[in-house]
Amino acid sequence: MSNLDLKPAPTRCGGEAGAGPVKELLTGRQVPLGESTVVRRLLPNLGRRMVGAWCFVDHYGPDDIADEPGMQVPPHPHMGLQTVSWLHQGEVLHRDSLGSLQTVRPYELGLMTSGRAISHSEESPRPHARYLHGAQLWVALPDAHRHTDPAFEHHADLPVVTAPGLRATVILGTLDSAASPGTTYTPLVGADLALTAGADLKLPLEPGFEYAVLSMTGSVHVDGVPVEPGSMLYLGTDRRELPLLARTDAAVLLLGGEPFEEHLVMWWNFIGRTGEEISQARTDWEQGTRFGEVRGYAGARLRAPEMPPTPLKARGRVR
Ligand code: MN
Repeated sequence: MSNLDLKPAPTRCGGEAGAGPVKELLTGRQVPLGESTVVRRLLPNLGRRMVGAWCFVDHYGPDDIADEPGMQVPPHPHMGLQTVSWLHQGEVLHRDSLGSLQTVRPYELGLMTSGRAISHSEESPRPHARYLHGAQLWVALPDAHRHTDPAFEHHADLPVVTAPGLRATVILGTLDSAASPGTTYTPLVGADLALTAGADLKLPLEPGFEYAVLSMTGSVHVDGVPVEPGSMLYLGTDRRELPLLARTDAAVLLLGGEPFEEHLVMWWNFIGRTGEEISQARTDWEQGTRFGEVRGYAGARLRAPEMPPTPLKARGRVR
């Protein structure tokens, strides 16, 4: 998915290591995506830009797209990050400049590593299922790996951890010693927790990670705080377990990782370390160099927005 903001504001990111356990309820911002989709953007958020290396989180749907084109995101570039496509309902057809052509279905991982440069498109295929419901997430690449070769992975068979009332699918990283086959570059976890009504359990956590939980469906009490779709609870660090209570069937995403200490410049679909790097990436996309070509998408590629009038600068992580 693309950041389709016409005037994306430059965002500086960076964790605050060792903040300890906290409970910070973050509200998603409604952002239009293309012509027929509105997403709830949980990250970056006003008070919180990252959770581990997770730096971008959109939750969309469930939307009835029976008579709609559904998701139609034209070819656009990425740099310095990985994208994770995660679905509960519907399907997304992914094309990229490496020649990948892959339909991603519910509970399958579509993982694209942009490395130094890639471009891709995402669309609801025709015909498509009536409902579309999912999340789009970005993971920032650390400096040592951000210039790596671009790659696309599709994993249809992810590990599952079960406990009474819980079925956890490990999307990325490791949960309770079950490891996703998806390639990672920093210690992190992403897991889909399906809870049945009455579930009351404690999930094991890594004390060195920071965590957040967002609801896909239903309301779950996370360490006593009700988390509903459209909001995300940031939990901080230094936790060994997480109390979860579901009064109805529900599903939440658990995101976590080692606090990401590097300072980043995020703008549009790029992550860099300096404004000059971002500006060069924009120029390269507009001139049709470096990011390759997506074949087979019925439509024009996305144009980059104008750069903001003030130069993007590398700054510290504290505002
Ligand atoms: Mn994208």
